Amino acid sequence: MAKINILDEQLANQIAAGEVVERPSSVVKELVENAIDAGSTTIDIVIEEGGLSLVRVTDNGSGIDPEDIPLAFYRHATSKISSGRDLFRIASLGFRGEALPSIAAVAKVECISSTETTGLGRRLVIEGGAIVKDEDHNAPQGTDIAVRDLFYNTPARLKYMKTIQTEIGHIADYVNRLALAHPGIAITLKHNGGLLLRTLGSGDRLQTFAAIYGTTTAKAMLSVEGEHPDYDLRGIISKPEQTRANRNGITVVVNGRYIRSYVINQSIMQAYHTLLPINRYPLAVLELGMHPSLLDVNVHPSKMEVRFSKEPELRQFIEQVIVDALGKQRHIPGPASGE
Ligand code: ADP
Ligand code: MG
Repeated sequence: MAKINILDEQLANQIAAGEVVERPSSVVKELVENAIDAGSTTIDIVIEEGGLSLVRVTDNGSGIDPEDIPLAFYRHATSKISSGRDLFRIASLGFRGEALPSIAAVAKVECISSTETTGLGRRLVIEGGAIVKDEDHNAPQGTDIAVRDLFYNTPARLKYMKTIQTEIGHIADYVNRLALAHPGIAITLKHNGGLLLRTLGSGDRLQTFAAIYGTTTAKAMLSVEGEHPDYDLRGIISKPEQTRANRNGITVVVNGRYIRSYVINQSIMQAYHTLLPINRYPLAVLELGMHPSLLDVNVHPSKMEVRFSKEPELRQFIEQVIVDALGKQRHIPGPASGE
């Protein structure tokens, strides 16, 4: 056997990047989540060539303290949690401190950030994990991160990228859902100079929904709202007549995080039950709030999957709220019905 070595940071980051940065949309996800965590009210996303040549995210959030900018690119460096106890009450979208170092390991990254309204900040350029430029830089308060030539140093990964259309499709899908999750943030998405999405940031979810699905579809939606000792739920759902051929029209947001949840999708489908034709799915945007301790978001590096600690109660609650909104008379057995 060869001797055991501890891998250097650069190599460790490149390995971690394999999990965190699957494709250009992962970069968009991580950068936009950071912008949201920083309290931004406007986020501008510029993409070139499906994100393979450029992903640039500019926000007007808190900014990164100039002293901390190099640290942000270290692995497990985060301002969002500091102790093991914090892991059980995560309120931010990020917490693993892995995104920036992973992205910087497999791309050319330029980060400009300033916490000052006076505009004095710092500019850091990192290529393949190595700092190539570090200087004072005047910038408005907020952060501007440009990720160029993704996977330029990992040809095996680059080879697996699909067409530009496929990659921008993934990006647009993700940005649309984030916009639905955060109607209070004004978001723009541009690809090769063309505008794909602009939301006003008014806080009105239906308005954001209309920007994505069109005004006619938006007008036909029903609103849902429900309270439970552990959860609150609000959102919009389509009438049973308005169906889709797949589940992509369902967006579930838990504590501000867009997630994929088999459990919640099942509850939604159960609520519509026989109202839907076979193999047809509703449109829905559901925002679920709960105490962070009822939720484990540390299941996968992408944090798209979560675990709920009181799953049966949650299922029943969601189903009941939707059944009520649909105005059906169907009885759902169990304590949530209160009968
Ligand atoms: P995480 O989000 O898990 O903390 P990241 O690698 O994504 O890890 O970011 C590292 C740190 O850099 C964050 O904890 C935050 O302090 C800072 N940061 C990154 N992006 C931004 C941003 N857009 N605005 C303000 N701070 C940021
Ligand atoms: Mg992050």
